[in-house]
Amino acid sequence: MAKITLFGGVDRIGGNKILLEDRGTRVFFDFGEPFHMKDDYFVDFLTPREGRFGLRDYFHFGLMPRIEGLYGEEWVEDTDLKYRSPEFHAVFVSHMHFDHAMHLKYVDEEIPVHLGATADTIRQSWEKTSLGRSTCGKHEFKTFRTGYKVKVDGLEVEPIHVDHSTPGAYGFIIHTSEGCVVYTGDFRLHGPRSDMTREFVQRASEERPVAMLCEGTRVTTQDPRKNMSEEGVRNEARRLISASDKLAVVSFYPKAVDRMRSFRDVARSVKRKFVVSAKVAHLLGMLQDDPNIDAPDPLRDPNMLVYVRRMAKPDRVKYEKEYLDMMSSCDRVVDSDYVRDHQRGLMFHTDFSQLTELIDIKPAPGSLFIRSKSEPFEEDDVQEDVLQNWVNWFRLDFKNAHASGHASMKEVFGAVRRVAPRKVIPVHTEHPELFDRSGVRVKRPKLGVPIEVR
Ligand SMILES: [Zn+2]
Repeated sequence: MAKITLFGGVDRIGGNKILLEDRGTRVFFDFGEPFHMKDDYFVDFLTPREGRFGLRDYFHFGLMPRIEGLYGEEWVEDTDLKYRSPEFHAVFVSHMHFDHAMHLKYVDEEIPVHLGATADTIRQSWEKTSLGRSTCGKHEFKTFRTGYKVKVDGLEVEPIHVDHSTPGAYGFIIHTSEGCVVYTGDFRLHGPRSDMTREFVQRASEERPVAMLCEGTRVTTQDPRKNMSEEGVRNEARRLISASDKLAVVSFYPKAVDRMRSFRDVARSVKRKFVVSAKVAHLLGMLQDDPNIDAPDPLRDPNMLVYVRRMAKPDRVKYEKEYLDMMSSCDRVVDSDYVRDHQRGLMFHTDFSQLTELIDIKPAPGSLFIRSKSEPFEEDDVQEDVLQNWVNWFRLDFKNAHASGHASMKEVFGAVRRVAPRKVIPVHTEHPELFDRSGVRVKRPKLGVPIEVR
């Protein structure tokens, strides 16, 4: 008998941990961290104990599922969960967003991880730029592309690309002994590669699946996000920036490669230079070797510059130190003095954690601040308050130009009807009850309770 058990992503957005078991084969799809996971019990300096405590404090409050044979020994040795050698065959990762991949580091490193080739490049850059704190652990990482059929024990998994706000995103068609199960991962239909999502939906529909695990981020009756296209974002940004004679600060999630390309295009058309952080430059540099991703290269693109921070201990920040060393010989690498002195000719990318650079850049009052968030922390109230305080402090002109990484409710239900599974299992959504409106029979998952596939 085949069964599906959700250990995360139930009645909430993010934190997907989906177990599929079939005739002794046990495979997880995604192993992410829920947003605000610790917020009920921890705040400020009250944090879970680290080091030898492993997952002890997390298990105590039920913040991580207690599953034997899954976690690495060092994470459970000081807990009341007995360590057992791995009883799971693989983890498949749909894409490299935090809420789908961040808990891989707790999984026993003997368990291999399958992910898209581009997602693996992103992972490697992420590891190198997160300063020693391992983000995904030291698993064997096995890469796939669309068209692969990955065999794990008795189970065959077909990954098929989908369009999302990070490259290397996949949905899965899983061939079980009881029929075909489809898992969408995160997807959108209004992005620049909607053809990929359509291809996935088409392929999934051909299989007449018995079950479809479908994301529903925007399945709500009050959707704050608009279906602005990437082109819409470009046009809006171009309009705003060409009307300004001051610095344009632009803020979005650093792994959104489509958005990087969009703002590079805007820079070219308004005759400014687009300045990105060393961390972003590192990721874009690594993606140059990927034949399927058209990522701009900040060290070669005439419309871009790389920004290095003033660092207290530059030797500790290896990836950024490399760019710092280039500064004397390469006019594509700049610092805060340069940005401060050339404000009218620049667009400066920042993400929330690097707002402190504005203190050195000293943007002139009235400079633009364009928020172009496309994920995944789209509704973080505390951050929003702090961001607005920074905007007010520097007297910046705050604007939004945003395209969501997720399909709208109408599009999600359209995809569900098209795939026409025997039942749909809502995941990554706060409103599973609304899936009734899709017209397909809904099986609402409960955390940790197996659902039979048949
Ligand atoms: Zn995502």
